[in-house]
Amino acid sequence: MIKLHDKVFKPFLSEEQILAAIDKMAAEIASDYKDKTPIFVGVLNGAFMFVSDFLKAYPYPCEVSFVRLSSYHGLTSTGIVETLLDVPDNIEGRDVIILEDVIDTGRTLKQLVHLFSGTNVKQFKIASLFYKSEIYNGEYAIDYVGLEIPNNFIVGYGLDYKELGRNLREVYQLNQGNMINLVLFGKPGAGKGTQAGVLKEKYNLKHISTGDVFRYNMKNDTELGKLAKSYIDRGDLVPDEVTIDMLKDEVEKNPDAAGFIFDGFPRTEAQAEALDNFLESKNMQVDATIALEAEDDILVARLLERGKESGRSDDQDENKIRNRFDEYNQKTAPLKAYYDKQGKFHSVNGIGEIAEITERLSVVIDQFVVIQE
Ligand code: AMP
Repeated sequence: MIKLHDKVFKPFLSEEQILAAIDKMAAEIASDYKDKTPIFVGVLNGAFMFVSDFLKAYPYPCEVSFVRLSSYHGLTSTGIVETLLDVPDNIEGRDVIILEDVIDTGRTLKQLVHLFSGTNVKQFKIASLFYKSEIYNGEYAIDYVGLEIPNNFIVGYGLDYKELGRNLREVYQLNQGNMINLVLFGKPGAGKGTQAGVLKEKYNLKHISTGDVFRYNMKNDTELGKLAKSYIDRGDLVPDEVTIDMLKDEVEKNPDAAGFIFDGFPRTEAQAEALDNFLESKNMQVDATIALEAEDDILVARLLERGKESGRSDDQDENKIRNRFDEYNQKTAPLKAYYDKQGKFHSVNGIGEIAEITERLSVVIDQFVVIQE
C-alpha cells in the first residue's frame, strides 16, 4: 500500500504486466506500420513512461513527438483547444499515432481529435495503454488498446494523483473507500482507547470503540443499552449478534471515513469472520491488527484507578476485571491465530509513556503505509 496526499492506493498492475501489454501493442502496430515510418505523438504529462517503453519495444523506423493539453476540461469558450505544447509541425501527410496513457470518458480524446482535425495528416490513429471501456462514451474508435481496466482511479507509471505517483513503476488503484483499517487488540486497560485517540488524529481515521458505543447507549437508556447492560455489568461479553449489528451500523454511519480503528472489536472468532465478510462486501479489508501487551497485575491496578474516576461499574471490582481477562483469554486471544494466518497480526509492548507506545504502533502501521509526501 502507498499513500499519496490523503489517499491510500493498493497495487493493481505489476511492471511486468504493463510491459507485456506494451509489447503486445508495439507488435500489433509494428505489423500495421512496418513500411510507413509513423510519428508517435505522446500526450503529456501522463504518457511519458508509456511512450518511452513503447518506443523501446517498437522495432521499425519511427519518429516521436508530444502534445500537451492545458486542461482536462474540454474546449474553451471560443471553441479553440488550448494547448501548452502544440501539434508537431512536420506531420503533414504523415501517419500519426497518438499514444495516450489512459482513455476514460473520452473527453481528452475529443480535444485531441479536434487538435489534429486542423492538420493535414495522412492517417490518424489512437493507441491507449489503458482503456476504461465501461465509461467511454466518445464516438471515436480506439485503434489499439494495451489493457482494458475497470473504472477505478489509478496512479503510477506516469499517472498521478495531484501530481504525485508518476514515478512509480507499477500501477496502483485507489483503495476502495480509500481506507486503512486497523484493529487494536489488548486486554481491558491495555490502552487501546488512549492510543486509538492519538492514532486517529495522526492517520486521519475514524475510531470505533464498541465499549464506548455500548456505554453511550446505556447512558441514554436505549433498547440496545438495556440489552447490553446486564452483560457489561458482569464483565461478560455482549452476544455476537448484537455487537456485530451495532458495529456494522457504526461503519455505515461513516461513509466518508478515510479508514477505521476498531477498538474492542472483534473480540470473538465469529466477530472476526463477520468483520471480514462485512468489509469484503464493501470492498474494504482489515489491513493490520496490533495487540498492546501488558501483564495482568499492571492492568488490574490501572483499571481500578480508572474506575475511581470514570465510575465504570466494570472497572471497580477486581473480580469483574479478572472475569474480563478470562473472557479475553478464552475468546479474544485465539484471534491471534486467525489474523496470523492472514499475515496481519502484530503486537507491541503496551508498557511505557503514551507517546512511546504510539511510536511503537506507528512503526507497525508505517510498514504498510508508505508516505510519499
Ligand atoms: P471495553 O470498553 O472495550 O472494555 O468494553 C466494555 C464492555 O463492553 C466489555 O466488557 C463487553 O461487555 C462489552 N463489549 C465491548 N465490545 C464488545 C465486543 N466486541 N463483543 C462483546 N462485548 C463487547
